[in-house]
Amino acid sequence: MAILTFKWRGEYKPYKLGIYEMKFVKRGLFEETMKILAEHAYKIRFVPHEIIEDYNATYNVVFGGKYITTNAAKKLKVPLNEIWISEMWRTYEKYIIFHELREIYYRANGFSRDEAHEKASQDGFYLWSKDVLFNKMISEIEEMDRKTARKRTKSQGGVKTNP
Ligand SMILES: [Zn+2]
Repeated sequence: MAILTFKWRGEYKPYKLGIYEMKFVKRGLFEETMKILAEHAYKIRFVPHEIIEDYNATYNVVFGGKYITTNAAKKLKVPLNEIWISEMWRTYEKYIIFHELREIYYRANGFSRDEAHEKASQDGFYLWSKDVLFNKMISEIEEMDRKTARKRTKSQGGVKTNP
């Protein structure tokens, strides 16, 4: 069964429904998404932040018969059907695993990496916009991305601090 269907009064319905049913979908979206993990037996691996700091998380998987990977995963040699997450974000694993799985799902359905990332992010906000821990994660990741970007600019700027 496709992931974005759910049982409604004994029938399987697609995800896109009228507004009055959205509350029901909202509850189902997280559970349906997490089922992907078990169904595909993807392995979640927490890795030291230094090795994955430019990406926070990445994946190398087969989904719906399609091979879905990232340049980061190639660079880091992520084994097949693994999702890697920085140890730094372990507290937020539920949100991050959900995001990666949604991104994989959208890519397998023909969206580009950027579009899939954007849509997965929207789904996260859709579920947890009022969740305190979720919002804490968003601000911490933004802050970390700023730091990482600064570091990158510095190291690419030709200023060698450690010759
Ligand atoms: Zn993403």
